[in-house]
Amino acid sequence: MSAKPEIADFNDLFLSDEYKELLERKKAFEAPCTAAEVEEASAYSKSEAYKEKNFARNSLVVNPAKACQPLGSVMAALGFEKTLPFLHGSQGCTAYFRSHLSRHFKEPVPAVSSSMTEDGAVFGGMRNLIEGLENSVALYKPEMVAVSTTCMAEVIGDDLNAFIETARQEGAVGKDVPIPYANTPSFVGSHITGYDAMLKSILSYLYERSEDVAASSKADFAKLNLILGFEPYTGNFAELKRILSIFGSGYTFLGDQSGNFDSPAAGEYSYYYGGTKLSDVPKAASALGTISLQKYAVKKTLEYIQSGWSQQVVSMPTPIGIRATDRLLAAISEITGLDVPKELTEERGRIVDALTDSHNYLHGKRVALAGDPDLLLGLIGFCLETGMEPVHIVCTNGDKEFQQEAEGLLSSSPYGEEGQVHIGRDLWHMRSLLISDPVDLAIGSSHLKYAAKDANIPLVRLGFPIFDRHHMHRYPIIGYQGTLNVLSLIVNTVLQQLDDQAPEYGFDLVR
Ligand code: SF4
Repeated sequence: MSAKPEIADFNDLFLSDEYKELLERKKAFEAPCTAAEVEEASAYSKSEAYKEKNFARNSLVVNPAKACQPLGSVMAALGFEKTLPFLHGSQGCTAYFRSHLSRHFKEPVPAVSSSMTEDGAVFGGMRNLIEGLENSVALYKPEMVAVSTTCMAEVIGDDLNAFIETARQEGAVGKDVPIPYANTPSFVGSHITGYDAMLKSILSYLYERSEDVAASSKADFAKLNLILGFEPYTGNFAELKRILSIFGSGYTFLGDQSGNFDSPAAGEYSYYYGGTKLSDVPKAASALGTISLQKYAVKKTLEYIQSGWSQQVVSMPTPIGIRATDRLLAAISEITGLDVPKELTEERGRIVDALTDSHNYLHGKRVALAGDPDLLLGLIGFCLETGMEPVHIVCTNGDKEFQQEAEGLLSSSPYGEEGQVHIGRDLWHMRSLLISDPVDLAIGSSHLKYAAKDANIPLVRLGFPIFDRHHMHRYPIIGYQGTLNVLSLIVNTVLQQLDDQAPEYGFDLVR
C-alpha cells in the first residue's frame, strides 16, 4: 500500500521553518516599519483623536457593509425559472459576483458576461451584447435572459433597450425569449438597489407583455404574493412556505432563488433549479395581495405593484422576534381572511418560553449591529424584546427613511436609549465605535470579523455575506422558528464567552 501523501494546510505550512525564513527575508526586502512603529500606529488608530479623523473622512470608504448593484440583479434573476443572468460589461465584475455568491451559498452560480474590453469601451458594447445573447441562448437554452450592467457599460452610456431590439432584429435572439433589463451602475446604490431594479424589470416585463391575466383561474384570485427580496437565507423561503401551508393559503413567490442556491448533488449539474414560473407572474397581478418581508430592498418593486396591480401591498422589515412575526401572521390573516392557525399560536408559546429561558444571559448585553436596512430593523426589534441594548448600528446602504424608522424603534424601548444609527458609514467606522465605546458582542456579516477581533468581542454572524462559517443560510431567521435560531446563535455565543473567560470556580456545568 502506498503511503498517504502529506499535503499541509496553509496554516500548518506557513509555520514551517522554510516559510518563516521566507517571511523574514520578505520583510527585510520590503523594509517594513519596526515593531515599535507598528505598535505606535496601532495604538493611535484606537485613540479618540483618530476616531474624529475617521468620522471626518468623506472621500474614502474602508470595508463597506455592501456589495455592487449587479450582484443583487444576479440574485433577482436567479429567482425565476430557467433564467440566465447576463451582465453587460466587464468579465471581472461577473467573476466577482459569481464568486461572492458562491462563497456564501457554497453553490455554483450561473451568470454570463458580454466581456467588454478596451474596444468595447471606445466604440460601445453593442456587438458584445448581441453576440453574447446569441451565444448564451444557443449554449445554455434559458427560458429568459435577465440583462443588467456593470459600471463600464454605464459610464459609456450603452443603450440596453436599443441594443436588445437590434439583437432581435438581427435574429440573434428569438422574439419568444423574454429579455428584461435593468441599469445597475455600482457607483450609486448597493446590491439591494440592483436587486430591486431587476425584480421590478422582470415583473413589469412579464406582466405587461402577457395575456395570461385574462387566463387567471379562480385559484389565482385566492392566492397571496410573497416577496423575500435580497434574501441570503434559503431557509427563510422554506420557513415561509411552511407557515403558508399551515395557514392553508395558496401563494406565489415573486422571486424564489432558494432552488438555485441550494441545489442537490445528484451526480449531474444543471444550470437551473427551481424559481418562480414565468407564467405565474402575470397571474400574480390577480392575487389577493402582496406581502413583502423587506421594505428597503424592494422599494421600487413595491411602488410598481401598488400602482400597477391594484391590490393590497403590505411591507415589513425582516420579521425576527415575536412582535414582528405576529405582524407577519396578522398580515397573512387579514389579506387571506384565514384565522391564524392554532399550530402557529402554540409554536409562538414555545418560542416565548425559549426566550424566557435565555433571558437572564441576554438582558443588558450591549450590542453592535451592521448590515442591510431590513435585517437591521429586524435585529433591533429582536434585541429590544430580549432586553439586549443595541448601541452602535452601522448601515452603509441605509437612507434617511431607514434612519428615522430605526431611531423610532430604538426610542420605543428603554433598552434602545443608547442606540445610535450611522447611515452611509462603513465597518472601519464601526471599528472606531467598538473601541471608543465597547460593547459585549457584535452581530453582522463575516466582514465585521476584523473590527470585532480588534475590539476583542465575539461576532455573531448574521446577514450577507457569511464566508467563514458553513450552512448558516440553510437555517431560517424569520418567523417564530427563525427567531429561535437567532436566539440560539446569540445566547450560545454569550455562553461560550462565559466559559472561555470563567475563573476555575465559575466554570459551571449548568448555565
Ligand atoms: S464597482 Fe462596478 S466595476 Fe467594480 S466590480 Fe462593481 S460593477 Fe464592476
